[in-house]
Parts: sequence; structure tokens; C-alpha cells
Amino acid sequence: MSTTTVSQRVAQFLRDHRRYCAYCDKCIAKELRLGAGKNRTIARNVTSVLAETDEFRRGPGICCKCGEHRLVTHRRLSGSRRFRD
Ligand SMILES: [Zn+2]
Repeated sequence: MSTTTVSQRVAQFLRDHRRYCAYCDKCIAKELRLGAGKNRTIARNVTSVLAETDEFRRGPGICCKCGEHRLVTHRRLSGSRRFRD
């Protein structure tokens, strides 16, 4: 699975949630069935890249899936101008 493919899947996954919802890398990897090891590293890299865009943000917070306080990624409520599929 290429990083680009994972990136698109993670972005789509976060977009699919209408309300504000933040996920940690572990849960994103789990939800997308990326498994462990290399793919999980890709998940972390992907969320870091997504956080650079206007559409997504990343920072300390509570993951809405596992409830743990971690680095989480979520979609910003406004603006998707700079992010392209
Ligand atoms: Zn989590």
C-alpha cells in the first residue's frame, strides 16, 4: 500500500465523520485496517502530512475512539481549499 493511497484513505475516513471527532494514529490505523509495523508508521506519517494542510489539524487531545489522551488528528470545521485529492 503506497503512502499516497493511505493518505487518501485517512483523509476520506476523517471526512466521513460529520461532527468533530479526533482520532489518534493507532485508532486510524486500526479503523483503516493498516495493521501494525510499517503500515502504522505510514499512518503516523500521513497524519503528520495531513496536519500541514488547511483541512486537518493535529495536536494533543482526547481520541474519540479509545478515549486516551494522545496526539490526535481531526478535520477542521472550515476550509478545504488547499487540500486536493
Ligand atoms: Zn485512539
